[in-house]
Parts: sequence; C-alpha cells; structure tokens
Amino acid sequence: MDNLSKSTDEGKFYVDIQKIWQEALPLLENSMTQVIYDTTILSIIPLSFENGVLTLKTTNDFYKPSIEKRYLSEITRCVRTVSGMQDIDVRIVAPEDFDEDNLARRKNYEETNLRRRYNFDTFVKGKCNELAYAAAEAIAENPGKTEYNPLFLYGGVGLGKTHIMHSIGNYVVDKYPDLKVLYVTSETFTSEFITAIREEQIDEFKKKYREVDILLMDDVQFLEGKLGTQEEMFHTFNTLHNNNKQIVLTSDQPPKELTDLEARLTSRFAMGLTADINVPDYETRTAILEKKLDLEHLDIPLIVKDFITRNIVSNIRDLEGALNKVTAYAKLTNAKITLDLAEQALKDLLTPEEKPDVTVPLIQQIVAAHFGLTTMDLSGRKRTQSIVLPRQIAMYLSRKLLDVSLPDVGKHFGGRDHSTVIHSCEKIANEIETDTKLRTIVNDLERNIKGD
Ligand code: ADP
Ligand code: MG
Repeated sequence: MDNLSKSTDEGKFYVDIQKIWQEALPLLENSMTQVIYDTTILSIIPLSFENGVLTLKTTNDFYKPSIEKRYLSEITRCVRTVSGMQDIDVRIVAPEDFDEDNLARRKNYEETNLRRRYNFDTFVKGKCNELAYAAAEAIAENPGKTEYNPLFLYGGVGLGKTHIMHSIGNYVVDKYPDLKVLYVTSETFTSEFITAIREEQIDEFKKKYREVDILLMDDVQFLEGKLGTQEEMFHTFNTLHNNNKQIVLTSDQPPKELTDLEARLTSRFAMGLTADINVPDYETRTAILEKKLDLEHLDIPLIVKDFITRNIVSNIRDLEGALNKVTAYAKLTNAKITLDLAEQALKDLLTPEEKPDVTVPLIQQIVAAHFGLTTMDLSGRKRTQSIVLPRQIAMYLSRKLLDVSLPDVGKHFGGRDHSTVIHSCEKIANEIETDTKLRTIVNDLERNIKGD
C-alpha cells in the first residue's frame, strides 16, 4: 500500500492523507455533477488522521450540512477504495467548529430546540396558509410588538404548523440574536413540569419558561385533561403576555373547540390572532413538491410529479413521504423514475384503506377549499350568501356521512344550535332534488371527502 509508509521516528504507520485525498478526488468527480464537485468537494482539505478517522475540513461553513447529508457516504467509499483501508471513517468539520463565539452560539441555538431546516425559505406560501404565513412573518419581524399575541395556528396533521412555528423562531434567532427563543411541544412541557415537581426544581422550571422573549408551544391540544399543567401554562402565559413577550401556539382545533381545556386558558389563547391552515390545493402541492426537489437537488419527470400531486391530497407530510418512497424505490431497484415505477412504489399509499378518516374538520376543509373559503369562515358568524351556502352544505355532508349528533355538528360550526343544523340539512336536501347544478357540486364534494 503506497499511501501507508513507515514513519521512522515513531515506528507507526504514517498515513499520507494528502495523497489519499488527491487520489480520491477523480473518483468523486465522476460520481456527481461538475458544479457540486467544483464548489463543494473542492472546498475540502484533509486535516488529520487519528484512530481510524480521517478528518476533512470544508473551508466554507455553509457546505458542511450538505456534504454530511449527501456526499459523506460517497466520500467514505472513495477514501476506502484509494487507501485500501476498509474501516476508515470520515468526519467533516468547518471553520465554525473552531471558533469560540460560534461554539457558544451553537450551544445557545441548541437550547432553543429549533430545527434549522424548518425556515421561511423552505416553506411554500399558498392560499391554504396565507393568513398564518403573513402573521408569522409579521411576528418574526417584530416579536411581542404586534397585536398578534398570542398567534394561534390550527389545522390538521402534516399541514405545516410546526414548520411555520420553527420558521418564526429561526428568523428571530438570526435577526435578533439577543432575544431568547424557546420551542417546546406541550407534551415536553408537561413531562418537564412533572419532573420539576418530583425533583423539587419548580423554580428552575418557571425561570426556563417565563424568562424567554418568544415561547413557541406546539400542539397545545395535548394539555387537555391535564389540570396541573394547564394551571402552570396559565401562569406562564400571563407572565409572558404581561411583559409583552411573544407567544405562538398550535393545535389541531381552534381554541373554542378545545373543550377539555380550562376556559380561562382557551380564552387567553384566543386573545390575539387565530389563523387556520388548510389542505393545500393542486398548485400549492406542486410548488411544495418542486421546492423539495430543489432542496434535494433532485429532478423527476413531469408526469411523475403530476401523479404524486394528484394522488396525495390531504397532507404535506404524506406528499414528502411519497416523493421519498419513489426516489428510494428507484435507487434500490436501480431503475429510472417513470410513471410505472411511481405507481408501483406508491401502491400501498394509494389503497383505499389508506384514505383519510372522514371527520367534520376534514369535511369543512374540503368544502371550504372548494369555495375558496377558510374553515374559519364556515364556523364564523358571517351571514353573507357566499358563506351561508357552503356552511349549509358542510353541515349537510357532516350529517350525511358521519354518525354525529345535531348538537355536535353545531359545535363544530361555531356553537350553532341544533335547529340551525336541522334547517341547513333540510334546505340542502330539498334543493338538490331540483337544482342539478347544486346536486353535482354536492356529489363531487362527497366523492372528494370519501377519497373516491
Ligand atoms: P404539522 O405540524 O401541521 O403536523 P409539519 O409542520 O410537521 O405539520 O409539516 C409536515 C411536513 O410537511 C414537514 O416536513 C414540513 O416541512 C412540510 N411542509 C408543510 N407545509 C409546508 C409548506 N407550505 N411548504 C413546504 N413544506 C411544508
Ligand atoms: Mg406539528
């Protein structure tokens, strides 16, 4: 092995890392696009070899995450090939890893619990999240200083609530490094609270949550039924709010429908701005798919994009999952990505059993989206004709497709009483007898809701 030569003074093998790297380069060049190679790979210099680990340094902080994520296994493979050492490991470092300030900053960042990849740049704006996005941007720009305090975001699973929340946090961390940001799920808050009581560290707990500038609490519906934690949250909320600190909350339901939360808490949750996030339409789904492909430096045929976007309709996490499945399937079988392959890869996802459960919120989302409204319009007070008819249709379909009582339907529609629900259902049932246009709309909506 000519990369390993005897080092005279120590009697150990000396590994010529410069030589190994020079020999690995052409192999790497062959395995990726020229642009990536010229920018990312050529930014690397070999630094040291210790305990079987080859440390490579990229001269640009910015490249480190993508090298680690996308090219580390290829680099390792090439290094092993040219060195002949099959158990060599490769580690990437960047200039920031050696900078004291950066180390401190990184530690602070870790304490925020934020995830970098969830930011405004990777988030796609659409009709479904228009208000939520605008409010999030306003808050990120001026935390605690707008009337959107708290900002309460709600919507179904996988629609981007957590992503928007982290985007606010990441923006603030970058723009106002002195502000303290803290992201927490309501489950973590609960379990930390319980531990703090048990270990008699309640003061530390209070300090942690009451001395921040921005508290981002995800999925507050999980506070339901936990009275002690709700009480603690109530006081945390008041302290922060009184000090003009920004609070952002998310949930699967609007505040007034979180009926197992104490009223004094939900009334506070609704004090600022409540914004819903809805199911994305076709254009937004396409834009999201494009963005993911872009971020991953991937491309797939148009017809496959269209196939995925048409079939995965109610959840963005599933949309991402579908894309991952198709690309992984292609890699595994060493095949080109074609429509056939996509159909094959996604056949489990598309079986009828996987259809979303029909619920009143799902019905509201699909009906609202059809009429260009939000679910808040449907449960709101407005009585304009453009809202009343969709609202009646959604009530009618809720009764028709689900086994829910009249008062329960009323509750989902802003606390309307059962006579209003009966009236709405009868009106639509009568009208579709004679109005063929309306009948077609209602039938289409029904099919959409059932996922047929
Ligand atoms: P939720 O918290 O509402 O359940 P998430 O925020 O976890 O949903 O989103 C699920 C996935 O979909 C995440 O990977 C997220 O990045 C992605 N996603 C959701 N909405 C968007 C969007 N508008 N643009 C880009 N990605 C999105
Ligand atoms: Mg979430």
